[in-house]
Amino acid sequence: MVRKAPREDVNEDGLEVGPPKEWAAGIPGVTRSLLTSYAQMGAGRTFLTLARVNQKDGFDCPGCAWPEGGHRSPAEFCENGAKAVAEEATTRRVTRDFFAAHTIGDLARHTDYWLGQQGRLTEPMYKPEGADRYEPITWERAFGVVAEELRGLGGPDEAVFYTSGRTSNEAAFVYQLLVRRFGTNNLPDCSNMCHESSGSALTQTLGIGKGTVSLEDLHRADLVFVVGQNPGTNHPRMLSALERAKRNGARIVAVNPLPEAGLLRFKNPQRPSGLAGRGTTLADRFLQIRLNGDLALFKALSRLLLEAEDAAPGTVVDHAFVQEHTHGFEEWAADTRALDWAEVEEATGLDRGAVEETARDVLGAKSVIVCWAMGLTQHRNSVATIREVVNFLLLRGNVGRPGAGVCPVRGHSNVQGDRTMGIYEKPSAAFLDALHDEFGFEPPREHGLDTVEAIRALRSGEAKVFFAMGGNFVAATPDTEVTEAALRRARLTVQVSTKLNRSHAVCGERALILPTLGRTERDNDRFVTVEDSMGMVHASRGRLRPASPDLLPEVAIVCGLARELFEDDPHVPWKEFEADYDAIRERIARVVPGFGDFNTRVRAPGGFALPNAPRDERRFPTATGRATFTVNPLEVLRVPEGRLLLQTVRSHDQYNTTIYGMDDRYRGVSGGRRVVFVNPDDLAERGLADGETVDLVSEWPDGERRAERFRVIAYPTARGCCAAYFPETNVLVPLDSVAETSNTPTSKSVVVRLVRPD
Ligand code: SF4
Repeated sequence: MVRKAPREDVNEDGLEVGPPKEWAAGIPGVTRSLLTSYAQMGAGRTFLTLARVNQKDGFDCPGCAWPEGGHRSPAEFCENGAKAVAEEATTRRVTRDFFAAHTIGDLARHTDYWLGQQGRLTEPMYKPEGADRYEPITWERAFGVVAEELRGLGGPDEAVFYTSGRTSNEAAFVYQLLVRRFGTNNLPDCSNMCHESSGSALTQTLGIGKGTVSLEDLHRADLVFVVGQNPGTNHPRMLSALERAKRNGARIVAVNPLPEAGLLRFKNPQRPSGLAGRGTTLADRFLQIRLNGDLALFKALSRLLLEAEDAAPGTVVDHAFVQEHTHGFEEWAADTRALDWAEVEEATGLDRGAVEETARDVLGAKSVIVCWAMGLTQHRNSVATIREVVNFLLLRGNVGRPGAGVCPVRGHSNVQGDRTMGIYEKPSAAFLDALHDEFGFEPPREHGLDTVEAIRALRSGEAKVFFAMGGNFVAATPDTEVTEAALRRARLTVQVSTKLNRSHAVCGERALILPTLGRTERDNDRFVTVEDSMGMVHASRGRLRPASPDLLPEVAIVCGLARELFEDDPHVPWKEFEADYDAIRERIARVVPGFGDFNTRVRAPGGFALPNAPRDERRFPTATGRATFTVNPLEVLRVPEGRLLLQTVRSHDQYNTTIYGMDDRYRGVSGGRRVVFVNPDDLAERGLADGETVDLVSEWPDGERRAERFRVIAYPTARGCCAAYFPETNVLVPLDSVAETSNTPTSKSVVVRLVRPD
């Protein structure tokens, strides 16, 4: 059986390919920010909106979760932040006439780019059973439809409540409250597909599922590893932090299969020398690693450090830290000393000399930070890899002191905050106890479904209602054909959204689109709060007039549904929550650790930092009360003859599933997305030429999966590896191909062959 992505109307006749860029940002970044904003919003709105992004009295950028420093410049945004804001603050509108003119089948034939370009949703829409298009519905009736379906289920676990990472803390808290009040922990979220592996590994080893560094630490580090991450596109303002670290004397080691422009050189648009000069060289060392080689690399670095310690005892290992704060060192060290160099070289594709030079960098650094993103988290052995990063840092006491620690860089702007607020299918007993004590009802104790399990439950018919608080579920998830078929089996699908996307065209028997406010928009006089990637919580207040008078804030959508579902609820004052976000924050303060006096502290300019025991106190709340060294076997991912390892990546005109445009400026691509980047030597070995068209085929026990018609681009990626954009290549990753422990789809190591189309 061959599974293929559904065919959309794709016209990539204008696809052009030039050389990749060797630097990021600069004048082209500024120009592109302004042109995109102007096209979507016009001049006046562009100025008003961009002036408020990430300001202390403004709104939080709806892009990534990168933190802001204490001092804010007048332009606190990057090119991709400007694109995210422009998409939301656009003056384009999707009205009832649009839906009357397009059947759902029509919508499904369009690309996500086309759908997104239609503008903001303006009123609730409903697809009744058997209908082929959406029609307007009142909010009251919409809540009635959802409540009716939920009440009609055989049990609460037949419903799934997904969350994307844009949802504010207040909306996330009331949403999880509604879901648990209803009786299930089926709260999958986008974390399941990105940093779940980080959370799993860090909770086990350090006792906290988050990073342990602040922005100040990054500025002060001696050595920063940037691993499996493309900050130039995905967290662009991280480049300013790296530049500052370099000015303070840091060295940077970039570890990646692709030589991304943002890892090489940065032209800071905030500085005249960045605009007019050469900019700052970022990576002092670029380790062009083979996909899935990171575990081997960090094991090898640790082994070299242990050898250096053996040669000069007491000079390399931080024995005081290891003895006082960790356990498992001896067993781990014995395993690490037995590492086989031939396997390291095979797994990483690096020669031993490059690894030894990097180890010398480490020996010369008093404080080391390792940053990473999806390049580390979306492999079968990702949890083991991140545990090995922790081992490497613990060895020299590089956790819990200034300028040192772990830095998983989060994607969507409040993805970390949503988890803090309880959006988690495996809540701790302590969190559920706190909910019980605060609200007086018994929350469900059985763990719920994560994203992959939710798709399986929808596929089998065990789950019948799918509710999404934001996001574009079918574009974010793997195994596109399977996922879409699963969604279409649902009795009801509900999407709370600001804009149209593919998930509105892949719906259940009945479907609702519930349009909501964006971050840029006024929510009466209220503000919401978010948590950034480094655990800072701050306020976000929109100022624009909402795109339509018929939009509701996410909090009002949750509370409106709850009032319909629970009627006179003796436990939760939904009406009060809807009107007064301070009332929600008071409850958060009593339920979620670290939020004491929330309403006062969040009103301080810039907000406040959440407690972080490893960082603040060198305290590790693990089962043993110590940081844990773990033994992680090195298993080389061997690829059968003629195959390559594929990683799915984003283009520069893309943020997660939102496609802002058809260009990938840094990689030299314009006018198209169906491309695959392959090393020229790998192409020659296969008898393929640059510019040829190929299908990408992955092979699995249940049959092949095929992504059709990609143009080959000869590109300086690591040997044996290739890259192509998601969501186009999601079809190649089966639902059952997941990381051990975290259950994250393995989108960064897919074995494929390139075949000429029939
Ligand atoms: S770095 Fe991230 S949060 Fe900051 S402006 Fe850019 S997209 Fe927005």
